[in-house]
Formats: sequence, C-alpha cells, structure tokens
Amino acid sequence: MDKKNVCVAIDGPAGAGKSTIARAAASRLGLRHIDTGAMYRAAALEAVRRGIFLDDGPALGEMMADLDLRIEFADGVQRVYLGDEDVSEAIRTPEMSAASSRVSARPEVREALVRLQRELAKRGGSVMDGRDICTHVLPDADVKIFLTASPEVRAKRRLDELIEKGENASFEEVLADMKRRDYNDSHREHSPLVRAPEATLIDTSAMALDEAIEAVLSCIKEEA
Ligand code: C5P
Repeated sequence: MDKKNVCVAIDGPAGAGKSTIARAAASRLGLRHIDTGAMYRAAALEAVRRGIFLDDGPALGEMMADLDLRIEFADGVQRVYLGDEDVSEAIRTPEMSAASSRVSARPEVREALVRLQRELAKRGGSVMDGRDICTHVLPDADVKIFLTASPEVRAKRRLDELIEKGENASFEEVLADMKRRDYNDSHREHSPLVRAPEATLIDTSAMALDEAIEAVLSCIKEEA
C-alpha cells in the first residue's frame, strides 16, 4: 500500500484525545489531519450567530445550503474558516461543545458535512477523526481505530485544558457535560457514536499522551 495515500479513520467519545493524537500521528506519517468535530463546531457557531434555534432542522438545513465553511491545511494542520474569518480558536469553547452536540443530531447538518468530509478524504492520505468516520463517512478506510478512555479521565484532561486557557470550570461540571455529550452522541437517531466491530479498540485511560500516540502509530503501521 502507498503509505502517502493511506486513509485512517478514528472514532471515539468526547475528550478521548482523538484530535491531539490524530494530529500528532498524521504529522509523523506526513498525512493531513481532518478534524470533523471542528466542522460541527463551526456550523454551531454560525447557527448561534444567526440566532437559529439549535434543534430547528429545516432552519439549519437552509443555513447549511449557503454556509461558506472552508477547510484549509497549513503543514497538514487543519484551519476552519467561515467566509474569510478563521474560527479555529473561536469554536473551542464549552458553549460551542454543547451547541455542536445539538446541531450534529440534525440530518440536514450531517449530510452537508459528511459530503465535505468525503471530498477532503479523496484528495489524498489523511487521518480523519470524529464519531461516525469508521461506521459511516469512510467505511472503506484502510485503518479503523476506536479511541476511548474512562469518563473521569476524559473529564480531567478536558478540565486541565480549560484551566490552561484561563477558563473557570469545576471537575463536576466538566464530567456532567462530558456524560451529557456521550449520551447525546450515542443515542441520537442519525449516525450515533458506536464502535465499528472491525475497529481496533485503544483505551488511553492509563496512557500518557506519547504512549497513546505510539499505540495509534503502531496500529496504523500494522494495518495499513
Ligand atoms: O470532537 P468534538 O468534541 O470537537 O466534536 C464536537 C461535537 O460534534 C461532538 O459532541 C459531536 O456531537 C459532534 N460530532 C459528530 N460527528 C463527528 C464529529 C463530531 O456528531 N464526526
């Protein structure tokens, strides 16, 4: 197999470290990292800015039809644009975490973003992470991984990130938010988060970040 064109799909719950690990693995392998969660977050940001009720499927569908969402890569690292505005940082707030979980339940939003994700994957080798990549977006991916960790470990990692950014949050709040998103993501009607039976399970609860990156890299090397 041509390693430069390898297609790697990674799914898992919020806070499992998917994006950080996928970005590092992609960079080591000279592949692009495609973060699909960022696309749902950008759609949520636009919906909030337009004052759209986040569960209103038809209104979200209209918004998606003329949404100017662009994905660019700088040295393999993804940047997300709404029009000319780089929103890659603005989408990383607890408010956008909750809002993206709601808009992502709407098929009108999912269909448009899945189309974009498949187009991006066609352009060459990549590591794409999300919730439905192995099961729905790229069912023919060369490598499939389900990355997870216990809710407590995931909440602690997310809390540390928020504190580092100078935000105020408690462990209990972050854990409750994490469990709510897990529930929403795995119980929604359209493309719920489930582990594809053929995906390799990697539980990072007891792993340091570099160990988790190595575990993903060795899985890719074995399977690609
Ligand atoms: O991965 P991240 O936390 O950035 O994703 C934000 C939200 O987008 C998730 O809570 C999930 O509801 C949604 N999502 C999704 N399908 C994907 C990626 C993300 O439904 N492939």
